[in-house]
Amino acid sequence: MSPGGFETTESRSTLVGTMPVRRALPQRKRRTIGAWCFADHAGPVDFAGPEGPDVGPHPHIGLQTVTWLLTGELVHRDSLGSEQRIRPGELNLMTAGRGIAHAEEAVTPFRGTFHGIQLWVAQPESTRHGDPAFEHHASLPQAAVSGGVATVLLGAFAGVTSPARRDSDHMGVELDLLGPTTTLALRPEFEHGVIVLSGGLVCEGQPLGPGALGYLDTGRETCELRVTEPTRAILLGGVPFDEPILMWWNFVARNRSEIDDAYRRWSDEDSQFGQVSSRLERVRVGAPLWRDRTETPRPGEGTNPSGSR
Ligand code: MN
Repeated sequence: MSPGGFETTESRSTLVGTMPVRRALPQRKRRTIGAWCFADHAGPVDFAGPEGPDVGPHPHIGLQTVTWLLTGELVHRDSLGSEQRIRPGELNLMTAGRGIAHAEEAVTPFRGTFHGIQLWVAQPESTRHGDPAFEHHASLPQAAVSGGVATVLLGAFAGVTSPARRDSDHMGVELDLLGPTTTLALRPEFEHGVIVLSGGLVCEGQPLGPGALGYLDTGRETCELRVTEPTRAILLGGVPFDEPILMWWNFVARNRSEIDDAYRRWSDEDSQFGQVSSRLERVRVGAPLWRDRTETPRPGEGTNPSGSR
């Protein structure tokens, strides 16, 4: 791709529990955008029966989870003792550091439409061994953009800065656009990603709708979006992450022994991850199967076993 270039790639459809998701990150050829390393667009899906959007207690290391809902509700519970209802327009930000566990529970009984996105931010070396933490921001600053409004989840955009914790130079914004066109001012040292949650856009002459990732390389100062219908989209950006990460299941690490160690600690119910007070069962997965244990790990290698997050 030429500097400042743009490309769209398809997200991968999978399931998290019973929830259909479209995984925009990571992709085989695109592991990160800034420090953003994971993006699951969940739903919209209608729940009419007893089951809801539940994910039982599971561990994380080395990342922050960013949960953002358009419709529906969740209850976040973690091993720090946090219990927090998540509603549309509220930012749920959990920092794993050296280890945390959490559950994402449906509000029972849940009936209706669930639609949201969960993003992960890889923590840099300076904080990834640190304490776990949790923040919830019930309201976030907004900025007017041409043809719509931007809600700043993380970092700064259009002169507005989010109060949320940030360990590297990155940003995340929700765009609520009516059109007909929106011109975004970008930082040229950032690479960016656009994930449409509902509606549709044309960016650089290419249509972009739900189920795809639009990637904008570094070196751009603006991006013009043609808004073909009322649209809600997530704009991610950041300085390209220069630490080679290894992701497996819910862990963001640097090498296989860190992953093996975290896996063993979770399987052994080691105190590192603490206890989550949840009506749901702990999530368990099979052990990592490395192709060749003597091989040097490559950046971004590994898999996320489906059915877990
Ligand atoms: Mn999680």
